[in-house]
Amino acid sequence: MERRDFLSDVAMYSALCTGLPNAWRVTARPSLAGDPFTLGVASGDPTPTGAMIWTRLAPEPLDPDGGMGGQRTNVAWEVAEDEQFARIVQKGRATSVPELGYSVHADVSGLASDRWYFYRFTLQNGSSPVGRLRTAPAAGVMTPLVFGFVSCNHYEQGYYTAFDHLAREGQLDLVTHLGDYIYETTGVDGRTRKYASSEVRTLDDYRVRYAQTKTDPMLQAAHARAPWVVTWDDHEVDNNYAGLIGENEMESEDQMRVRRAAGYQAWWEHQPVRVPRARNWSDLNITRRVEWGGLAAFHVLDTRQYRSDQPCGDRGQPVPCGDWGDPTHTLMGAQQEKWLDDGMAASRARWQVLANQVRIMPFDDNPGPVAQYYMDSWAGYPAAIDRLMKTIGRHAPNRTVALTGDIHSNWVNTLHTRYDRPDAPTIAAEFVGTSISSGGDGADAFGSWNDGTRAANPQCIWHNGRRGYVMCSVGAEEWATSYRTVPYVSKVGAPIETAARFSIRNGKPGIERT
Ligand code: FE
Ligand code: CA
Repeated sequence: MERRDFLSDVAMYSALCTGLPNAWRVTARPSLAGDPFTLGVASGDPTPTGAMIWTRLAPEPLDPDGGMGGQRTNVAWEVAEDEQFARIVQKGRATSVPELGYSVHADVSGLASDRWYFYRFTLQNGSSPVGRLRTAPAAGVMTPLVFGFVSCNHYEQGYYTAFDHLAREGQLDLVTHLGDYIYETTGVDGRTRKYASSEVRTLDDYRVRYAQTKTDPMLQAAHARAPWVVTWDDHEVDNNYAGLIGENEMESEDQMRVRRAAGYQAWWEHQPVRVPRARNWSDLNITRRVEWGGLAAFHVLDTRQYRSDQPCGDRGQPVPCGDWGDPTHTLMGAQQEKWLDDGMAASRARWQVLANQVRIMPFDDNPGPVAQYYMDSWAGYPAAIDRLMKTIGRHAPNRTVALTGDIHSNWVNTLHTRYDRPDAPTIAAEFVGTSISSGGDGADAFGSWNDGTRAANPQCIWHNGRRGYVMCSVGAEEWATSYRTVPYVSKVGAPIETAARFSIRNGKPGIERT
């Protein structure tokens, strides 16, 4: 489409709209108090022919309305082969409306596979920053993949130095975010920086929380650099929630349904995800697959929305306790368990990747005659781990890799046919990545890691409690993982270090430190 057509379309739109109430007019030149692109741009969920591209208009990001004053806006987008946009290959328009937080999602298609592109959004007032997207290889193609995975960027608890380093990695085809992108908690004085409100509960609250988090330039740089595949964990709604059971036991299921709808909608509005809107936002299904040619299939999981309540509180507990062993307990829900099993059965990709939230490997953190597990992790749901191990064992033993977040520390674990028997055959690797900033500066070791727990948990082969992210370099035969850490997040400017490297071979059990 030529620019002239675009302008005449806009003129036609305006003419069409003059008979309508003001609230329904769509403009390509909104009146703005400032730059509307304060939250940056993002791409995500790549396919062999395109990707999602995202922005949100918010000249005043800490205003629940973003400072848009109800204006419905026509936003143009362009995808080009070059950063100067001389060779534009796709373009289109999207409407930004108050009902969806002025977010803009465009599902770009018609691009060549396995290639980098540039994208931007434009109003008549000006253009957004430029982002980069990369299409996936075509079905069956074995192009190697270099991706990073991240989780837990508590805005108050530290600077996003790790995102800055991630954005500068030499090769970065993709980023996976495993949840806790925002935290719902009350702003606290005396931290590195402060959330603008008390605990968030309403759609307006969550929008402001996302907006404040997204004003960070280092986070914006990491989004602009490469497409992301984003899932969520608990803090996108409420700490350690399970299904419709919240942290505060006085909060009813109806209240939690309303709260979940607010949290889920705000998540959708702020992420570059190819997730169809739900009839009810409280039931938004975000499970999906991202295929990287014939090399890797990413199964993007949701272990929060469909899970049973934690069996005996959400802390560490000696087991068995309460209904801990109940075979009907689930983290993914029966439907998602089947979806994963079917998907792994059907996939011909060399590597099956689980974009997972909470730790799968049961870690006994009180060695002695009775094991003690953390109930908010998979270890609180032994029947569910058992079913997951059966799925892996049936379809992709020793070529399944779980990526995990949640616990603000790094762990490298082997997973076994019997979840509580490290001497049983190894069938998968789990790489747990630390937080970007949650928990503050971090330390080499996390609370329960000591000589005793190390000896009691031979399935855990490495641990570290620093902040950072994890880089994975994936080929048809070898998967290499590098733990990238920063020594502090309470000040800016921390250098990046590689704390440890690991390697696994496709089809071979075990993880080797390299
Ligand atoms: Fe977290
Ligand atoms: Ca979490």
